[in-house]
Amino acid sequence: MTQIYLNNTLSRRKELFEPIDPQNVRMYVCGPTVYDRAHLGNGKTPVSYDVLYRLLCYVYGKDHVTYVSNITDVDDKILNKHKESGKPIREITEETYNWYIEDMKKLGNLEPNARPRATDYIQDMIEIVKRLLANGHAYEAEGHVLFSVDSMPSYGTLSGRSMKEMLAGARIDIADYKKNPADFVLWKPSAADEPGWNSPWGYGRPGWHLECSAMSSKLLGNDFDIHGGGNDLIFPHHENERAQSCCAFEGSKFARYWVHSGMLMVDGVKMSKSLGNFYTLDEVLEKAPAEALRLLFLTAHYHQPFNFTFEGLYNAKASLDKFYNALLKVKEVKVEEVPADERVVNALADDLNTPLALTYLHEMVNNLNKAQSDAEKIKCKSELLANAKLLGLLWQDPEVWFRGGNNDQVETAEIEAKIKARSEAKKNKDWATADKIRNELKEQGILLEDGPNGTTWKKA
Ligand SMILES: [Zn+2]
Repeated sequence: MTQIYLNNTLSRRKELFEPIDPQNVRMYVCGPTVYDRAHLGNGKTPVSYDVLYRLLCYVYGKDHVTYVSNITDVDDKILNKHKESGKPIREITEETYNWYIEDMKKLGNLEPNARPRATDYIQDMIEIVKRLLANGHAYEAEGHVLFSVDSMPSYGTLSGRSMKEMLAGARIDIADYKKNPADFVLWKPSAADEPGWNSPWGYGRPGWHLECSAMSSKLLGNDFDIHGGGNDLIFPHHENERAQSCCAFEGSKFARYWVHSGMLMVDGVKMSKSLGNFYTLDEVLEKAPAEALRLLFLTAHYHQPFNFTFEGLYNAKASLDKFYNALLKVKEVKVEEVPADERVVNALADDLNTPLALTYLHEMVNNLNKAQSDAEKIKCKSELLANAKLLGLLWQDPEVWFRGGNNDQVETAEIEAKIKARSEAKKNKDWATADKIRNELKEQGILLEDGPNGTTWKKA
């Protein structure tokens, strides 16, 4: 079996990945807070974990991997958006959630096994707070319940920060009712017009960190294998998740491997609204197909800071043109089921070395271009597609790519299934059904063209 090595933030070194149960490898990745359009950084992180998920499925089998990525749908940022815009909270979170899912599909990310929403797990959060109060790791003060960092000698281990450094952290709220200024909120009171739930401590809402502790333990168990997220979450979010879970569930070590992706920069500087270099995913995807952005993300190592430039995006688009051009030339050549190249698997297994994996993909495209005999073409095409799949690339019909690209692989599969059903209907001389399918597709803006080699389609 392939041995996977991952850079573990907890130990600060690259470690051999040994799952707790190889029959059920479990990964939790912090998802977005749904209050606005996802930005470029919100796109990069899930692409990295999607490749890790694909690798885990390849090595352990798809039925033996559970990937959970949450949605934070209760948070002060959402509340602020509601106050600013006057829109109902539910409307904000639903709309933003749908945008996010659409962006994830466009980027070619597989759907995780579960996308839990925080508001569906409030009772589980309350249970964790009760446990922490009962075992002396939390205390009540002025309507809040706070986690006592002094009650956990190893607090700070994940981020490697001293108490002094943690206190200097900009994201710590100072309040006189805290025993230690680093103590953080598990539960806080809500005003009557704010979102809230009844609890033993009154009407209120959970602290952000608590959400992930509750959802991960409920869906993956108290102990699981991989916890991911952007490296800006290491402190305080992940440090606090870990503190809550380890202290609430006695004997739990929580996540074994903490895998963090590097931050995204634009033109060499941090992306920020004030610098005018802030881009949402949908803004960037107006300039190039999402698959080009995915390829661009994969040209750098996930752990390193990533520098986005539009020039890089256009270069990635040009690389994909080359790839799809090679595939277009062998469009009629059949594809055989082949295993991925060991070199590609080993590159990914070495802490997701996607830049190295991509060099092999380029080599395979060159081989495909040079292939002469039919047998060679079948071999080279099958090899290229099997390896590209591991990276979530080259899933489009090459003709569709050159027609401007289709950003939705689910949609592509649905259209092709309908075309197949129509061909079947025509074969059975069921003209009514065939016409009905053609008209249905036309209504979706998909035009069919019947030719000697079958039916092709394009967007109107
Ligand atoms: Zn989280």
